Amino acid sequence: MKRNKRVMRRSLIAIAAISLTLATACSKPSAGEVEKERPAALGGAAQETQASAESKGHSDPEGELGEGQAADDTLVSLVNKKHPLDKAYVPEDLVPVDVPTVLDNPEVNQLRKEAAAALSKMFDAASEDGVKLYARSGYRSYKTQEALFASYSAREGEEAANRYSARAGQSEHQTGLAMDVTSESVSFQLDEAFGETTEGRWLAEHAHEYGFIIRYPQGKEDITGYIYEPWHVRFLGVRLAASVYESGLTYEEFVGEGIE
Ligand SMILES: [Zn+2]
Repeated sequence: MKRNKRVMRRSLIAIAAISLTLATACSKPSAGEVEKERPAALGGAAQETQASAESKGHSDPEGELGEGQAADDTLVSLVNKKHPLDKAYVPEDLVPVDVPTVLDNPEVNQLRKEAAAALSKMFDAASEDGVKLYARSGYRSYKTQEALFASYSAREGEEAANRYSARAGQSEHQTGLAMDVTSESVSFQLDEAFGETTEGRWLAEHAHEYGFIIRYPQGKEDITGYIYEPWHVRFLGVRLAASVYESGLTYEEFVGEGIE
């Protein structure tokens, strides 16, 4: 009996300790709550998480992307018109991509380290299948996105521009985890016709094997906020990308967060 009591007390202490941990975690406002007061919060939180991951010496030298993503939740963050990034958010681990590119601007030829490594693997695999992919636009700073959206708006009006281009802070390209992929068959442009090319089909079929998803699928504009973009891939890590791919859902639906 005494022994049971001791065991029970130990269990209670353990439960209390766990509850305390949970209370601490839950006392942090969720991204959604913060966003209403301060749209900047997601970027702030992202930086904080990244810093803590680095202080723990997190790295992914073996390229075990499925493992790596668990230690750094900025790699899976949802960024859209409802969940913007901080104006000041710049990923700390941007590197130049090591694949064929289209544009001269060195800024857009960068991705975060893990995404860049995965992109190389994907492009190599495509090449082995006789499919030649080109990287057109990866990381874009807040300022670059601001200028880009302004130029599209001036040309076609703000509403039209907002269907395919993001306002600054609302672009996945600022995460350093998105890449626009193209091919010679569409003159290295970002064209819906890319989806029907050999290259576009290869990308749709295999991107998840390397940790990427086609982020804006056909017929999902109401949910993602963007027209069909067969060229835009988003890195999520192999495990999560495969789950999203197999679910047949958009990332918004997968995480249960629409833009409405
Ligand atoms: Zn894009």
